[in-house]
Amino acid sequence: MSYTDDPVLIPLRCRNCGDDLDGLSGDVIFYCGNCGRCWLFGEGFSPVRIEFLRPGGPGTLFLPFWKVDVTVSVYQRISRRESSSSIVEGFREYSGRERGLSENEPETRRDRFIFPAFSTSLVLSTGVRMHRENFLPDKMEHGIPLKVVGGSVNLSDAKALARGVAVGVEVNRNDFLACVDLDIQVVSADVYAIGCMPEEHVFRINGSDIGLPLSAVRDSDEILRSVGPR
Ligand SMILES: [Zn+2]
Repeated sequence: MSYTDDPVLIPLRCRNCGDDLDGLSGDVIFYCGNCGRCWLFGEGFSPVRIEFLRPGGPGTLFLPFWKVDVTVSVYQRISRRESSSSIVEGFREYSGRERGLSENEPETRRDRFIFPAFSTSLVLSTGVRMHRENFLPDKMEHGIPLKVVGGSVNLSDAKALARGVAVGVEVNRNDFLACVDLDIQVVSADVYAIGCMPEEHVFRINGSDIGLPLSAVRDSDEILRSVGPR
């Protein structure tokens, strides 16, 4: 192994068909619009499965998301009641040490987390919101060249973020979470290219009320420029 400060130039070409791959500096996920392969750049280029969702109408922009299938093991989960009514005291709030804690049985379940694979400050909260929706891949017509924005979240970050989303999902349940101890085992990690519509201030996920404010997406200017004038 040699150590050098010289930048290594890696040709940004599809390993399958040789076509040029588009990407911003910092991108690690590249989609080849020519042959339809998707590549993840780490030590080198490795193929990653990609599926298309919510193509929507004209003007749709495909943004990359991680789709991470996991086994969630919840070792301990303690929730508390916000308030109760009792015959003696009437309606009252729990507070301080007397919080009405209750502990759930430990459980293991399969789950799927989908969250942005591009740089945004809202990756976790978007992932939690997306968890409530059923995102299923669409059958896309072959022969239509599709363009997918490059992604900058690598696989190991995606695995770490999936755990963050898992915790966020627990926090967002309808009870008041006091404490959770969980871990995830990643079963598979693929790329979802999800159709989004650029609106005045947000990228809106097609068929959803979830929108990512442009101000929260690091490369929103370049992303909008990459789709050309509209
Ligand atoms: Zn290709």
